[in-house]
Order: sequence, then C-alpha cells, then structure tokens
Amino acid sequence: MSNLDSMQRFTFDQTDVRGELVGLQKCLNAVLSKHDYPQAVKVELGKLMAASALMSATLKYEGRLCLQARLPGDVTLIQAETTDTGEIRAIARYDESKEIEHVELAGGQLVITLEPAVGKPYQGVVPLEGNQLNKALEYYFKQSEQLGSRFWLECDGTIASGFMLQQLPASEQDDPDAWDRLSHLASTLKAEELLNLDNQSLLYRLYHEEQVRLYDETALRFACTCSKERTGNAISQIGYDELMDVIAEQGKVSIDCQFCLQHYSFTKEQIANLFPEKKLH
Ligand SMILES: [Zn+2]
Repeated sequence: MSNLDSMQRFTFDQTDVRGELVGLQKCLNAVLSKHDYPQAVKVELGKLMAASALMSATLKYEGRLCLQARLPGDVTLIQAETTDTGEIRAIARYDESKEIEHVELAGGQLVITLEPAVGKPYQGVVPLEGNQLNKALEYYFKQSEQLGSRFWLECDGTIASGFMLQQLPASEQDDPDAWDRLSHLASTLKAEELLNLDNQSLLYRLYHEEQVRLYDETALRFACTCSKERTGNAISQIGYDELMDVIAEQGKVSIDCQFCLQHYSFTKEQIANLFPEKKLH
C-alpha cells in the first residue's frame, strides 16, 4: 500500500536535489463524493490535487496555494487548493449536457496563486500545452525560480499520487551530475508503481544506489475554508437591491458552497446587516 493522505519530503546526501511524494485517497474521495464527476474529470482533478499538495510543500509562509486550470473544452475549469497545514479542497466545472470522455488541457492556462495568510497574493500564469499538467508546472518553476523541477502525477479515480524532484540553489557539496542522474532514474517510474508502492519501496526501487534521506510525513485532509461570514461577503457583491428582490420573491437568499456543498441561507435581516450603510435609511 502506498502512503495515503500524506506527503513526505526526501533528500539525497551530497546533492542539491530534494523531492516530495504525495498520496491521496480519503481527501480525493471526500471531494468526489460531493459531486457526480465523469471518470475523466476525476482523473485530472486528482492529479491537480496531488500537484497542489506537492507545490504547497514549497510554501515558505502560512497560507494557501491554489492551482486553477482554465480550459477551452467542455470541461472549463479544474481547481485544487492546499494550505500550509495540509487542508485540501478541489472543484471542477463542465458542461453537464455533454458526454465527457476526455479533459482537454491543451490551449488552456494554469493559474498558480500563492495566498499568504498575511500580505498580498502572488499570481503566475503558464500555458497548458500538449495536454500535460506536469510540463506547465515545470515551466512555472523554471520561470519563477530559475530552478529545474520535474513532476509525475497519476490518478485512477480512487487514488492520486504525485512525485516531485526539485533542484536547490547549488552549494559546494553539489554533485554536478546528480540532477540529470536522479531525474533520469525517476522517469523510469511506471504509473502503477507511483499509485501502489509505499514511499520507502518506491524510493528504493528508483534510488537504491543513492543515499536517500526520508523525512516525517505530513498529514493531508479534506477541509473547506468556507463560512457564513465569507459567503456573506461574497454575496454582498451582488448588490443590496438585487438581494432584496430575491428576498421579496423567495423569502430568503440561499447559496451552497461550490466546494463542500455546505448550505447557507440569509434572512432579510441578515442581508440588511451586510449593508450597514443602508440601515440608516
Ligand atoms: Zn465549503
């Protein structure tokens, strides 16, 4: 069994290369159980969740990392977010009137947002080419950090796994051939090995001739960051008059969180409280 719902860092002695492994099962199923996604959407969403977890390991502060793929086909959006504390959530949008057999990534854009708990968010956008999510991630790191990175992502609709290798800024201990050698060995990994092997067996399979150091696992769990307050802030953007029209028609304003389907309902008084300036009249 692979290591599930956790991620784990590893390094190689005498090199400036580090890696990260992630396995998702309960987190993935928590997302999928709330929606009736086609298999092709489950697979791409699982890979994106694994990618967001791997990338959250590079966060240097408290906050959240969000990956959003904006796509040209019948599946228009897949999005996955992981916080520095290992809370993960994800969503997909697609044309439900269509038979979805394939998620077209090529021609889309991957938007990478780093949202620190304090301070301004940073956003990077990279093109999705050749239908490969991992290439867009590698391109992002090359552009933003000038460091080589490689990603391998797999999902079978039940389990999602990811493997990342990353160059660190070179130090004196650098073994100049290490990056090429270690990334070449990783490229021999098969999809079923990434999905099914535990981390220790997987690293032994690839790197039994290297000095690998495996660190403590970090647990990952599904959690949504929605709240009544945040939902209230979001719907207040619709405008006072429009919301009061809904109240007049339906007696309340109802809204479900897109990620976790939590239902939020606002009474006339609660809507009025969102607009303190209107209360004076
Ligand atoms: Zn929610």
